[in-house]
Amino acid sequence: MARTLDDARRWTALGTSLVLRAAAGLDDTAYAEAAPLPGWSRAHVASHVAANAEALSRLVHWAATGEPTPMYASPEERAAGIARGRAMPAAALTGWLRESAEALERGMDDLGERQWRTEVVTAQGRTVPATEVPWMRAREVCVHAVDLAAGVSFADLPDDFLAALCDDVVAKRSAAGGPAVALRRPAGGAGWDLPGDGEAALVTADLPALAAYLTGRDAGPPAADGTPAPALGPWL
Ligand code: ZN
Repeated sequence: MARTLDDARRWTALGTSLVLRAAAGLDDTAYAEAAPLPGWSRAHVASHVAANAEALSRLVHWAATGEPTPMYASPEERAAGIARGRAMPAAALTGWLRESAEALERGMDDLGERQWRTEVVTAQGRTVPATEVPWMRAREVCVHAVDLAAGVSFADLPDDFLAALCDDVVAKRSAAGGPAVALRRPAGGAGWDLPGDGEAALVTADLPALAAYLTGRDAGPPAADGTPAPALGPWL
């Protein structure tokens, strides 16, 4: 089912509350510990999420004023945003996370119907209407809330978000090439097919586990005969 602007804004609000809930209990030591993403600490994750809110606020500014303001001036600026939080005390980093999210929310609240239809350009160079901004943000806050490894899991995310996330990741992975996988849920319901080389491997799991597997956060359940699920690279 196609997601709507209202869906994306609801998921953004939920994901933001999950990120802030996960971050609330983190001190300097906990922030410095490794996150489940290769080479990243929790501080990298939090910093990336905060810098992402600022970058998406630039797209909201673009939509509001018509003045082209890209997400990042350069790839180096994006990398600097991820690194910045490592040097910040925990309270400052959590504060940046909250304030950047609130500013983005206020900016989106102020957009009118015509402004939402303004075309903006993403960091990947795609031209999209501004209505895609809340979806881009929802993905970041919901998935990285899990990456903070502080009590939030894919099972905390609503089914409609997880299904939209699986649609999105399958479309991206289909374009990129990789192993063929038939993703199925044990009780029926929507499944996904990743096109690729050879006969498709069957991976059966509930929706949160399929989303964790598809985003490269989990190795996935082995097949009935014990064969491991095909390895998928990290996503996001
Ligand atoms: Zn991200």
